[in-house]
Amino acid sequence: MRIRGGARTDVGLVRRRNEDSFLVRERLFAVADGMGGHRGGNVASSLALDTVATTVPATGATAEDLVDAVRSANGAVLERALADPELEGMGTTLTAMLMRGDEGLVAHVGDSRAYLFRDGELRQVTEDHTLVRRMVVEGRLTPEEAEVHPARSILTRALGVEPEVDVDREAVSLRDGDRLLLCTDGLTGMVPEEGIRETLRREPDPQAAADALVAAAVAAGGEDNVTVLVLDALPDGDENEAGLPVAAAAEVAEGPRAAAPSPPREPRGQALATAAALRLRELPWRRLAAWAGAVATAAAVVVVGVRLYVDRQWYVGAAAGHVAVYQGIPADVAGIRLSHVTAVTRVRAAQAERLQPWHQLFQGITAPSERAALGIVQQIRADVATAARLGRAAGPAAASGVPGAGPAPTPSPTASPSR
Ligand code: CA
Repeated sequence: MRIRGGARTDVGLVRRRNEDSFLVRERLFAVADGMGGHRGGNVASSLALDTVATTVPATGATAEDLVDAVRSANGAVLERALADPELEGMGTTLTAMLMRGDEGLVAHVGDSRAYLFRDGELRQVTEDHTLVRRMVVEGRLTPEEAEVHPARSILTRALGVEPEVDVDREAVSLRDGDRLLLCTDGLTGMVPEEGIRETLRREPDPQAAADALVAAAVAAGGEDNVTVLVLDALPDGDENEAGLPVAAAAEVAEGPRAAAPSPPREPRGQALATAAALRLRELPWRRLAAWAGAVATAAAVVVVGVRLYVDRQWYVGAAAGHVAVYQGIPADVAGIRLSHVTAVTRVRAAQAERLQPWHQLFQGITAPSERAALGIVQQIRADVATAARLGRAAGPAAASGVPGAGPAPTPSPTASPSR
């Protein structure tokens, strides 16, 4: 089986730079969608693909080799991010496919996607590592709602954020005539799957299909960088090519829409294209950073780490009138709560909130870890107990609101985040 493919990337209409990259090599194909910082996104996606290209053995590579290469890419991006303050917080998605015999081996992290187009039907091979996807699995959103949700590009996994990364792997047994699509969310965020399927049906030539898909994303608003690889599985024929014609890839890299300097041409079979542009990716991220900033003290911690900090944040707040520990950040994104309660105490939130150090309770007191959050809870409990003792000593009037010391006060309906 051989692969004939087409590739295109485009900055889109909104971003200034293209932070997507793609890799086309003998039997090895990948897309990466970088994010973070002034130039970090571009560096992250191209460095990740460079690492994969140089790490996967040229011949006889296995699924394990591919996953190892993705892990190496994670390490390379993280190391670079830590070494250069300008690149701090950068990260990237990566969806790679290695042809091994008649199998397409897929390794994947993030929300770029691999699809199999077979017999006119389109099937997503990869699972999105996004917050909205998780909410779909939990039954809190429908797939349709998730596809258009404003918070849809918040990732739960990416490369370059933590020393260890969990890499998804899939294997697709390919038949002659199958078509694989690798793309960044600049396509899937702008063009419904129905439209993608129709285009793949309509355009038999893989390069024409890639061009048409990118054109459709741009026509739909081009809010993000868009990158598309279309790979056709063909019976072993006469000669040559396992990979894309280099001319196509080079043309992509130097396309007229690319605003940033184009990378030098790579030797045949090594066309690693980094095009130029920026943004849908940054939007939710920026909004989140703004919210996190509003929540204050831990903003510096929050801003590290692309968009997946949501899972790594903790705070102490109020749940059902009691002091509680939350995982996530104390904010909503377009109606989606970015946190959930992990523990509720018996300490009344209204009592804690009256004490000077805990005035911020209803807005959420952020903590770098669960342990730290529990430490805050302990301190609150101790302070409330102390206040109760002092209140009792001072007499019933001052003790109002303390358990067992007279009638409980009316819970304040203004105990809301707007306080
Ligand atoms: Ca993107």
